[in-house]
Amino acid sequence: MMTPITDTFQRPLRDLRISVTDRCNFRCVYCMPKEVFGTNYPFLKKEEQLTLEEWSRLVRVFASIGVQKVRITGGEPLLWSDLPSLISRIRHDTEIRDISLTTNGVFLPKMVKQLKNAGLNRVNISLDALDPKTFLKMNGGILNVHHVLDGIESAKDADLIVKVNMVVLKGVNEHEVLPMASYFKDRGITLRFIEFMDVGNTNDWTEGKVMSTTDIYKTIHQSMPLKPLEASYFGEVAKRYQYVDSTAEVGFISSITNPFCTSCTRARISSDGQLYTCLFASKGVKMKEWLRSGISDEELSSRVKAVWEKRADQYSNERNRIDKKAKIEMSYIGG
Ligand code: SAM
Ligand code: SF4
Ligand code: SF4
Repeated sequence: MMTPITDTFQRPLRDLRISVTDRCNFRCVYCMPKEVFGTNYPFLKKEEQLTLEEWSRLVRVFASIGVQKVRITGGEPLLWSDLPSLISRIRHDTEIRDISLTTNGVFLPKMVKQLKNAGLNRVNISLDALDPKTFLKMNGGILNVHHVLDGIESAKDADLIVKVNMVVLKGVNEHEVLPMASYFKDRGITLRFIEFMDVGNTNDWTEGKVMSTTDIYKTIHQSMPLKPLEASYFGEVAKRYQYVDSTAEVGFISSITNPFCTSCTRARISSDGQLYTCLFASKGVKMKEWLRSGISDEELSSRVKAVWEKRADQYSNERNRIDKKAKIEMSYIGG
């Protein structure tokens, strides 16, 4: 078995999140507010972004140093035309058997079979409300909720493991917690509640807008009792519960009220090939330059190892003690 490389807190590098595009067809208020991400926003140009060949090589190199899971995200990863080819290469060229996608789900009905055939195992679909008006308020007024619900259905029909992610903002969609919980409980789909995070600098985050895991839990538990479940592996981000009268589960991702930095095993790569060792980083390591300078796979892996071994990130643990400016945006680095 491969000896894992660890950072200064002895956390192994297990999980790779790759953002294949910084563009998106939504403008969620907590991620890409439309007032900031308008027509003049300087999105990355095609030549600035990694190619399919470069992504395939990077994932191979990360797999060779211990990465076991790859999550493909964005921006909206279904807008990236090479997605099926990349999944298929990861499946064939590496031993990674856990390949997942985070998406707003809109293009799943037309793409999901191809993605499943390429080797995709799991999909997390973001949905913040069932009520059409609230949904539109959350996604920047772009699309009706039935498009996402159709995407969720199509992923279930394709036999993928499906989870739904909901970000809860106080006073905006908190009234949707119970309807969402009940809807997905009935369908046996795991719903995960994500506390609104202070990622980037544009989403107008304040602590007052965060609906805490404790409050969400109480809201659900009062009408649909829950019981806790054991974590299924080291570093599992969501705290999982099961309904007492059903096999359906819910999860809580409490980056604000209960940080999980001590077990963080994730590295992230942006679509222009920068390596980030924390979601709240200000600076990345420019791997695109390495890739394009002609270095060998061995040299590439030893440079990545060196970055990881120096890593000392624990932003969520320190959030209240530091005033960090210039964080990178969620749509650039992926969730
Ligand atoms: N477009 C895809 C989607 O929405 O699923 C993938 C990219 S999106 C950046 C990845 C995840 O980050 C989504 O589940 C989204 O809800 C979550 N997210 C974005 N901004 C967030 C924030 N400020 N706080 C908490 N979660 C956030
Ligand atoms: Fe797009 Fe996903 Fe961000 Fe919403 S959360 S704006 S769908 S990248
Ligand atoms: Fe990992 Fe950084 Fe998030 Fe902590 S704040 S869990 S180190 S990504």
